[in-house]
Amino acid sequence: MTSNPTVFLDHQASTPVSQAVLEAMLPYFSGGYANPHSEDHSAGWAASQAIEAAREQVACAVGAEPSEIVFTSGATESNNLALLGAAAADGERGAIVVSAIEHKSVLAIGRALQRAGRELRVVPVDESGLLNIDALAAAIYGDVTIVSIGAVNNEIGVVQDMAAVADLCRSRGALLHSDVTQGVGWSAVDVETMGVDLASFSAHKLRGPKGIGALFVSLAATDRIAPVMHGGGQERGLRPGTLPTPLCVGFGAACTLLPNKADVESWRLVTRHLLNGVEQLFPNLILNGAGDPRHPGNLNFRVPGIDAQLLVARAQPHVALSRGAACTSGIPEQSHVLRAIGLSEEEADASIRLSTGLDTTFSEIDAAIVELAKAAYLPESL
Ligand code: PMP
Repeated sequence: MTSNPTVFLDHQASTPVSQAVLEAMLPYFSGGYANPHSEDHSAGWAASQAIEAAREQVACAVGAEPSEIVFTSGATESNNLALLGAAAADGERGAIVVSAIEHKSVLAIGRALQRAGRELRVVPVDESGLLNIDALAAAIYGDVTIVSIGAVNNEIGVVQDMAAVADLCRSRGALLHSDVTQGVGWSAVDVETMGVDLASFSAHKLRGPKGIGALFVSLAATDRIAPVMHGGGQERGLRPGTLPTPLCVGFGAACTLLPNKADVESWRLVTRHLLNGVEQLFPNLILNGAGDPRHPGNLNFRVPGIDAQLLVARAQPHVALSRGAACTSGIPEQSHVLRAIGLSEEEADASIRLSTGLDTTFSEIDAAIVELAKAAYLPESL
């Protein structure tokens, strides 16, 4: 521990596990370790019951039936199961339709399917990051295996009009998947109202543990998806392997701690305070992505002429912030999201993402602004 702890402003990459979630999980590390699929003894039944209770909590949080929740290792795996599973089930070898700002784990699967001979149709977004429904409509023709449109973007926080997307897909008979990973921790997600057939979630974006997520597979879509891994037939035969009881329990517990509307409004005020602070530091900053509706914790902006990489590096170890998505960091490539909304290379290089969490305080923001000011004005030679 340092005497000057890091202010964590990277919640869209991951959130801290809440104390209540940790406490719910601990007994399943120390005591409830039986294989939840062991049907011959009471210890196995107890673990299985804990998992089924967690499944209900997850289902309840997203408006699904418990039987429609397939546990996975996280949203990356959920996205893989959705797209690869739909491709495996579709004998017609139809096209894959995605937006240009999908998470890497959707785009990369689309490209892999393209290499395997499928047509990949990438629908553009406008400069605010919003999908053009007419462009989506134009991309859904002929045999389409699956349409995958993320509900809330992890880099620029924009929220898509999923009702319009769902109406369109329904009218064309297209299978619709949505990556809702960034939506569950704050908005009232209801898969039925959204009209999606498949939806991906991840516990570590909502104060749950890493390594656990879920794919919602509506009962009506069961025949349109096939397993991509083979084994013991767990999870409706769609996702084999022994379920990690503590992680499932933690995911379920996190789903019972979702913020209400007032909490989300307070969260927005904290983010607004952060925006005011960075606007004082950089009066010429420009917000990337639509202002509203937007993830309550997300700020993504560019400051003409600034070297974001240098600023982020100089802010260490005082402020955790990022230049883009954690999933691409480490790989020296530009954000495909920022390029898709029309930013030049220089503008993308001058962009920073800050993301507050539900528990971020005003005083943490003030401390972060002080550190960012120091980082911004440190002479380059230091
Ligand atoms: N989709 C989105 C929108 C995400 O933000 C993330 C995490 N960055 C993922 C998928 C991948 O989630 P996981 O870490 O659970 O694999």
